[in-house]
Amino acid sequence: MISFVGAGPGDVDLITVKGRKLMEEADIVIYAGSLVSKEHMDVCKEGTEIFNSASMTLEDVIEVMERGEKENKKVVRLHTGDPTIYGAIREQMDILDEKNIKFQVIPGVSSFTAAASAIKRELTLPEVTQTIMLTRIEGRTPVPEGEKLSKLASHKTSMAIFLSVQDIDRVVEELIEGYGSEDTPVAVVYKATWEDQKIIIGTLKDIAEKVKAEGVNKTAQILVGNFIEGAYERSKLYDPSFTHEYREGK
Ligand code: SAH
Repeated sequence: MISFVGAGPGDVDLITVKGRKLMEEADIVIYAGSLVSKEHMDVCKEGTEIFNSASMTLEDVIEVMERGEKENKKVVRLHTGDPTIYGAIREQMDILDEKNIKFQVIPGVSSFTAAASAIKRELTLPEVTQTIMLTRIEGRTPVPEGEKLSKLASHKTSMAIFLSVQDIDRVVEELIEGYGSEDTPVAVVYKATWEDQKIIIGTLKDIAEKVKAEGVNKTAQILVGNFIEGAYERSKLYDPSFTHEYREGK
């Protein structure tokens, strides 16, 4: 059995209990070394084979999985954050399907929720926005035309932008076009939940400058929207006059 496991954003205690158990029992672990802390391997039993996928191709990864399966071993493929977001797991799962190798996917805490927690904010607020967009700017991986950052930003929802801080100038330019205001709040969270986490708060007007001054050019979430700063309505759920399934309103 192969288990794709979400390691969480950084802090090793943010892996799920299920993920930790699988790590404890694993015979083989293949971890995404660029963003997954080596400390996760501390819970592995004596003799667990450890592979860092940073220097491996898809074919190399599959080869290790296939051998593990043949030898009846428990294999964990440890991905950063939640494996279903920019995890490149589909291509692995499709090959495993072709080879009739069973696998499961264990979710993880994504860096976008970790970043929102780091700045102590709620991404969805009544009368502000009820939507979160998870996206990225185009890099070597293309982004479909309909998902251009400026177009998405024009909806003025909360946004979490992955894989893009190295292009902060281009990101800001598109966001200003979309949100239509330089005053829109932005928080850049570098290495959320790691020991060297950095939080940079600003607006579309000054965030690029601040990010560069801090030397942040990778492993950051760019959170954008009026959920960061400004007015909102309180929730209906906890409003004394509101009746719902579990409580009679007064
Ligand atoms: N599956 C991961 C995302 C992998 S893509 C998840 O759910 O979080 C890698 C990108 O995720 C990075 O470029 C960065 O934008 C973001 N990222 C990953 N870990 C992060 C962290 N601890 N803090 C801030 N951003 C992070």
